[in-house]
Amino acid sequence: MAKEATIDTLLEEERIFYPPEEFTRQANVKSKEIYAEARANPQLYWAMQAERLDWFRKWDRVLEWNPPFAKWFVGGKLNACYNCVDRHLKSWRRNKAAIIFEGEPGDSRVLTYWDLYREVTQFANVLKELGVGAGDRVAIYLPMIPELAIAMLACARIGAPHSIVFGGFSAEALRDRINDAGAKVLITADGGWRRGKIVSLKDNADAALSQTPTVEKVVVVRRTGQEVNMQEGRDLWYHELMAKAPVGCPAEELDSEHMLFILYTSGTTGKPKGVVHTTGGYLVGVSTTHHMVFDIKDSDVYWCTADIGWITGHSYVVYGPLANGTTTLMYEGAPDWPAQDRFWAIIEKYGVTVFYTAPTAIRAFMKWGRKWPAQHNLSTLRLLGTVGEPINPEAWMWYYENIGGGRCPIVDTWWQTETGMIMISPLPGITPLKPGSATVPLPGVEADVVDKEGNPVLLGEGGLLVIKEPWPAMLRTVYGDDQRYIETYWARFKDKGYYFAGDGAKRDYHNYYWILGRVDDVINVAGHRLSTMELESALVDHPWVAEAAVIGRSHEIKGQAVAAFVTLKARAFEELKAAKRSFKEIEGELKAHVAKKIGAIARPDDVFLTAELPKTRSGKIMRRLLRDIAEGRVLGDTTTLADPAVIAELKAKYEARE
Ligand code: ATP
Ligand code: MG
Repeated sequence: MAKEATIDTLLEEERIFYPPEEFTRQANVKSKEIYAEARANPQLYWAMQAERLDWFRKWDRVLEWNPPFAKWFVGGKLNACYNCVDRHLKSWRRNKAAIIFEGEPGDSRVLTYWDLYREVTQFANVLKELGVGAGDRVAIYLPMIPELAIAMLACARIGAPHSIVFGGFSAEALRDRINDAGAKVLITADGGWRRGKIVSLKDNADAALSQTPTVEKVVVVRRTGQEVNMQEGRDLWYHELMAKAPVGCPAEELDSEHMLFILYTSGTTGKPKGVVHTTGGYLVGVSTTHHMVFDIKDSDVYWCTADIGWITGHSYVVYGPLANGTTTLMYEGAPDWPAQDRFWAIIEKYGVTVFYTAPTAIRAFMKWGRKWPAQHNLSTLRLLGTVGEPINPEAWMWYYENIGGGRCPIVDTWWQTETGMIMISPLPGITPLKPGSATVPLPGVEADVVDKEGNPVLLGEGGLLVIKEPWPAMLRTVYGDDQRYIETYWARFKDKGYYFAGDGAKRDYHNYYWILGRVDDVINVAGHRLSTMELESALVDHPWVAEAAVIGRSHEIKGQAVAAFVTLKARAFEELKAAKRSFKEIEGELKAHVAKKIGAIARPDDVFLTAELPKTRSGKIMRRLLRDIAEGRVLGDTTTLADPAVIAELKAKYEARE
């Protein structure tokens, strides 16, 4: 009988990679018992993890849960900055590198924990001088330079929630986020370096500031050095303020539930939401997961390539690593500047041991070819990670072999801006890996895959990913909009009290989780539910294909039809052109490939070749815009697109096709 192509029968990944024995022997987590211990008493488990931090006052209650509103470590008092900086000064770590910074032009800086203390306390004094106090929101719009981490920690020190806006965002995106948060101060720079050019942050900031009534003062870091407009009475140079600011500033004793920051989601599913995180639970969650998932040791040089403007940068470039006293690396620029080996050159230069990046980056590295990493000594690496999207098994294998040299475990970490911390991930010393699966929920995380009514689906069946119990780093609300918080995440399974993540998933017969993509993106062809992730993986499996985005467009008879947008590898494109193969032939071959890999039902109705796919600034494919194009609609919210020109061109070409 032909294999029926539904979510149930797909993704039969049979390859399993066991943790190398030497890795397990030295791992931070060596025994599976931790899962059972956490399940037996989750609150006790999290209370034990909370002991990692320094508290000014211990909590009275671990959790107060008035669904869907949670308070963690109630009555406890602490300071996130104190935990990331001051407490390390009491030991030898005082002289340890806290931040290694590599600028795009090749400049570099190393800040020890003591250096960080000096700069952070000075800047905290600057903020106070500008009238910023506990509870006042501070917007930050900076490139990936040490001052970004310094500014965050200074805010945390005085209890001023920060709202970081990614440096690649436009003036309008910045304006909307400043206004939504009602920020009192903006911290920005003259510019940042990207592919050898200056990104004029101050010019963008000026455009935004003409429509942001709450901003009183603007602090400007000098990075790129070009002439910028400084408005008298409003704009101040960072280096001038710092020159006058004293070292040493008390870390406020803040309530565990004090707001640490607001961060807006990336906008793949609609208008970005201002996600609120608070101090105690968040810091417990990120320090615990950073320690366990990345198996962090004092000797590590740890590099997470995410921009601090995303949650991954907040949790795993700054707060998690620094709370754990880790050496964290920051790189300012593009991975292909001055050449396509920049990342591998950085790993070699600093002897990076743990490397964490995104599938979109890995697919780009594959497109550029293995010769780039092959030019460098990557033998210091011992552990790799990914986050942001499902990773296609093809890309996983490439990463494993070409970057990890076949010896490094890969932690595929599933989580969200809203979850604050990693939720589903291998523990590298004990979890056997399957390419493309984030494996199992971490200890203390209760997840499930359920149907529309909230009942668990059978193993092997597709459903909705939910979290069944509150966790410490969970979002507390959507800033200024409790109603949107309730409706977006909790209304769907109100009776059961489950958190709805918005992602589709299935579990296989080892109880491993496979993220199938956004629920909004699941395609229904004549009653068969197909996952975008599996269709895309089937396409990427073809030797010509670099990247693919699959959507369902409405179809009179089948309900939905599968439409694929595909980019080809540079080499394949040249070869096909030289061989005079027509687009029709190429498309036919790719359709046949999907039908062969998955089944006839999954055969795409259209395959559309394109030079680029529309992505968010964080590198995620914007399928909802592709759906708008395929269905001839006006484009939805495009403010978080990396390059608006890509979608405009794609739309024009799509509409002009035969
Ligand atoms: P918005 O909510 O505004 O649409 P967003 O969901 O893209 O934006 P993030 O919070 O940065 O913003 O992304 C979280 C999402 O990324 C998850 O819901 C999931 O779809 C995807 N994701 C993250 N890590 C993984 C992973 N390891 N495997 C599969 N999917 C992942
Ligand atoms: Mg989301």
